[in-house]
This record gives sequence, structure tokens and C-alpha cells, in this order.
Amino acid sequence: MEQSCQTTAETLNDIIAWRPALASLLTAFSPLLTQAETLTAELLEDPLVAAINLPQCEPSRLQLGASLLSHYTMPDVSGALAYARTKLWPQLQAIPALTDSLEPYYSYLGQVTLEDQHKLLDAVLLNDGTLLSDLATSKNLDAGILHFLATFLYSSLLKAVVLKNYGPANLEKEWPWETNNIWQQGYCPVCGSLPTIAWLDKAVIDERNTYLLGGGGRKHLHCGLCGANWRFLRLACPVCGIAESKQIEILTCDEDSHGESLHWCAKCNSYLPTVDLRERIAIPNLDAQAFGMLHLELIAKEKQLKPLHLSFWNSFS
Ligand SMILES: [Zn+2]
Ligand SMILES: [Zn+2]
Repeated sequence: MEQSCQTTAETLNDIIAWRPALASLLTAFSPLLTQAETLTAELLEDPLVAAINLPQCEPSRLQLGASLLSHYTMPDVSGALAYARTKLWPQLQAIPALTDSLEPYYSYLGQVTLEDQHKLLDAVLLNDGTLLSDLATSKNLDAGILHFLATFLYSSLLKAVVLKNYGPANLEKEWPWETNNIWQQGYCPVCGSLPTIAWLDKAVIDERNTYLLGGGGRKHLHCGLCGANWRFLRLACPVCGIAESKQIEILTCDEDSHGESLHWCAKCNSYLPTVDLRERIAIPNLDAQAFGMLHLELIAKEKQLKPLHLSFWNSFS
């Protein structure tokens, strides 16, 4: 039987109940994350999104490790970006660190040229705000804030476009790049980003599937940027690859873990939040779940480990 996912708010509320120490931070960002979730649902119905046809999944290209957007030029989406900006603005302005500095970005993001859109998208996909230094300087904006805003706007849009083109959203169904385990990489088969969280599915016995190890759930990686999921070998590091790394260590907290841990690689010291869904009744929203594991990320920081993917909550220190 299919099980529906929790919303962002439901996921964060569960985590706050388990770990009240995270309440103030999670509550501060909950409205923004919830609004981004609503925005994606709205954009799914948008004719502009429906008109964006992403590349078909070609097994031969995927087998070579070419993510789908790596040879794709995004059309003009200035209208969708402007709409996304309008929808998210009240929640962005409510974040104390941004309140006083956001105004100049509103007009810029309301009418982004196609050339600038491509620069913004490149910086978002490569998760590198420094790529926006020249652009930001020419507009008298801060590259870090611009990158943060562009990531939120593009993420809402990409999630809608990816669902429209490749669906489904349901964690229990297969995405096209999962058929016959075509995609073997640690980065996203759609946008090329590194994953923000891994999840172990509720156990399904399939003796032909080499991804099932020791009777446990299969490991999947989740892209926080475009929302894609893909299967990955449980004992491999998404950065070092399958052949070179068999050194995945697990960091968890002493109290009831609710299936949460960090998997980290003893070779490159990068860690990835991981949730074992066999230990959960409800399926969490994975983006909210990744954000809600800060207590483990703080321990990882003390151990001088580094996040596999820099997100807004673990990139400032
Ligand atoms: Zn992606
Ligand atoms: Zn590694």
C-alpha cells in the first residue's frame, strides 16, 4: 500500500517534539520552507512549467554519468522566477539576518535577463556563490545573498519541472533512471548536485537486487535542489565513488535516534544526513528532515567532518 509523505510542517513538528533544543531555529525557517513547498505545488499547474521539456532519459548517456541537465539549456523562466520571488518574499523578509538587506534584490529578481538566468542557474547547480561575484558587483548586490535567494527560487521551480517531466513524487515508485540501476553516480541524475540526505527504504525483499545488503533497506540519495531520488550502494561514498570507498562510518546520538544518523566517509571526511525509514511510521518530507538533523551536524563539525552538500543551515560558521 502506498504511504503518503508528511508535509514540511508535519516533519518539523515531529522533530521539534523529539528535540526541543532545535525548536527556535526550525521554527524560524519553517514558514519559508512551507511556502516553498506550496510554491512548487502551484508551479506544477503553471503552463510555463508544463511547456518546459527536459531531456528524455537515454540509458547510454546516463550509464556514462551524464546528468540530464548537463547538456540542456534552460529556456527563459523570468516569469516563474518573478512569481516565485513574490510568493516567498514575506517569509524571506521575516528572517532577521535578511530583513534589512533584501530590498535591492526584489527588483533585480523580478526581471532577470536570460543571460543572467544562466549565470544564476550555473551557480545554483554548482552550489558556488563565488561564481556570482562579478554579476553581483555589477548590480551592487552581495554574491552570497544572491546565491541564497537564487537557490530558493530555482529549487522551487526545478522541483516542479522535474516532477512534471519525470515524476512520480512517491518514494515507493521508481524514477526512470532507477530502471535496471542505470544511474550509478553519487551526484543527482537530473541536475548534477550532490545529495542533501540519504534514506533507507522500508525493507523490500528482492533477491535479484544487488543493492539490498544484509536484509536491510536499500539506500537512496535525495537531491534537495531538484527533488530527484536515486538508488546508491550502501557502503559507498557519493564523492569518492563506489570502487574506491568502503569506509562509511555511522554517527548517531545516544538517545532515541528516530532512524537519524550521519554517514561519513573515512577517506574524504564528508558526511551525509541519513534517515532509516524502517524506524519511522510516517515518511518525512526529506528536505525538512535534512534540515532537522542539525544536532548531528554539530557533532560532525566537532569531529572536523564536512557536509557533502552545503545548505543554508550548515554553510555559515
Ligand atoms: Zn537534482
Ligand atoms: Zn568519500
